[in-house]
Amino acid sequence: MHKSKILIIGGSAAGIVTGITARRSDKNAEITLLRKEEKVCVPCAIPYIFGTLCSTDKDIIPDALLSKNDIKLVKGEAISIDRKQKIVQLKSGESLNYEKLVLATGALPIIPAIPGANLNNVFSIKKDVDYINKILNVLKKVKNVVIIGGGFIGVEFADEFKKKGLNVTIVEMLPHCLQLVFDSDFCIQAEKKLSELAVNIVTNSKVVKIIGEQTVQGVELSNGKQISCDMVLMGIGVVPNVKLAREAGLRIGQTGSVWIDQYLRTSDENIFAAGDCAEKISFFTNKPTKLKLASIATWEARIAGSNLKKLEMNQKGVIGVFSTVIRDLTLCGVGLNEEQATELGLDLIIGNAITMDRHPGCMPGAIETKTKLIFDSETKVLIGGEISGGLTSGEIINVLSVFISTKATILDLVTFQMGTHPALTASPIAYPIVKAAEDALNKQATYSQQKKKIV
Ligand SMILES: Cc1cc2nc3c(=O)[nH]c(=O)nc-3n(C[C@H](O)[C@H](O)[C@H](O)COP(=O)(O)OP(=O)(O)OC[C@H]3O[C@@H](n4cnc5c(N)ncnc54)[C@H](O)[C@@H]3O)c2cc1C
Repeated sequence: MHKSKILIIGGSAAGIVTGITARRSDKNAEITLLRKEEKVCVPCAIPYIFGTLCSTDKDIIPDALLSKNDIKLVKGEAISIDRKQKIVQLKSGESLNYEKLVLATGALPIIPAIPGANLNNVFSIKKDVDYINKILNVLKKVKNVVIIGGGFIGVEFADEFKKKGLNVTIVEMLPHCLQLVFDSDFCIQAEKKLSELAVNIVTNSKVVKIIGEQTVQGVELSNGKQISCDMVLMGIGVVPNVKLAREAGLRIGQTGSVWIDQYLRTSDENIFAAGDCAEKISFFTNKPTKLKLASIATWEARIAGSNLKKLEMNQKGVIGVFSTVIRDLTLCGVGLNEEQATELGLDLIIGNAITMDRHPGCMPGAIETKTKLIFDSETKVLIGGEISGGLTSGEIINVLSVFISTKATILDLVTFQMGTHPALTASPIAYPIVKAAEDALNKQATYSQQKKKIV
């Protein structure tokens, strides 16, 4: 019997899940996964290595996931793809052939082109165990850290560094931290929590220079102000790692990622791409978006992995579900926020609710939950949501993602059948999704009368 030959380049979220899915749909395939690293860290937990886990050894994806699924692991770096011969050349001189190839080569940190970016004790966030160990060592000797970038990653690092007693300053160029995902009221709540933890926050400011002779001594901001520090961490985003694809002549999309069709095929029908290296299309606008998340990478990997044998699944665009936590405050967002939806020219109905995440509200551990739901006023369909509160918010946001993907309306959310328990959830009388949807329903009546934006 012919055994199909699948080669996956990339050993992180997208690569592993593509392999597992491919095995599920083809028990006989010969599946090989090629990756550069000796060990792969759980990328999303990298911040937690610094204050919670305190060791890279505790943040490793087990290779047993591969062996259990009969996926052959090859450690090495791919340097070129010969699409005609269907051969991948490795740096070691070896080569691997394939019938179907999957690119899951991920993304690389953006290093800003500013003076001093190459000084000692200036780090970016690399998914590389040796590099992270180097940061862990330096952290033992420093006191003052500047984090450039107040997105999820910057904020999570700040919280972890504070657990180690460091003096931490976040420099963010936007008016607020976390502003790429949340509307201002949620950003302000996050900043208040960071301030309670004694994190210094400098917004509306860009770092234009990193100061020092050999080792960093401070940063200079766009307004000329200087902040002294003995370590800098840059968390300002990533660029897709498309070198292999570009050099192989594959089409590159508008966002600089590998172009893919709805089946996750690249411009070569025998090569698929998934994860941070692959271009994403927005569920809402049908246009390319720069969203990059592990949850998206694994969603794509499940689609690509299924399609390797037979084209049977297609993608309908990325919704984007974000979660983060600053000490005891969870913040989650899904889909479009109010500002993004307004920029798209949509009229909105916004439902708000403040509820408790246990019932009665005096139950131990009960935390206030703030919910904001964003509906398109024409269709009454849910297009976004934001939640802050306790740990349960992290799953409530996933429920909202399902509602968005099924194009649920205000009424669908008001009549949503949930399960509740005093020690686990909000009360069925004041369930956050339902309460916020009811608020939107009340506003919908007003909207119908006035035909204007109601918030
Ligand atoms: C600090 C941090 C926190 C994050 N937190 C979250 C979170 O909470 N939730 C969330 O959804 N997302 C989070 N993300 C984003 C998430 O980590 C990425 O979206 C995810 O890792 C993408 O997975 P990937 O497999 O596409 O790429 P990557 O994780 O970048 O992996 C790429 C793989 O390809 C390999 N590779 C590349 N080129 C070659 C080559 N030429 N030859 C061989 N191997 C190669 C690499 O070595 C690596 O194994 C976080 C990211 C960071 C950095």
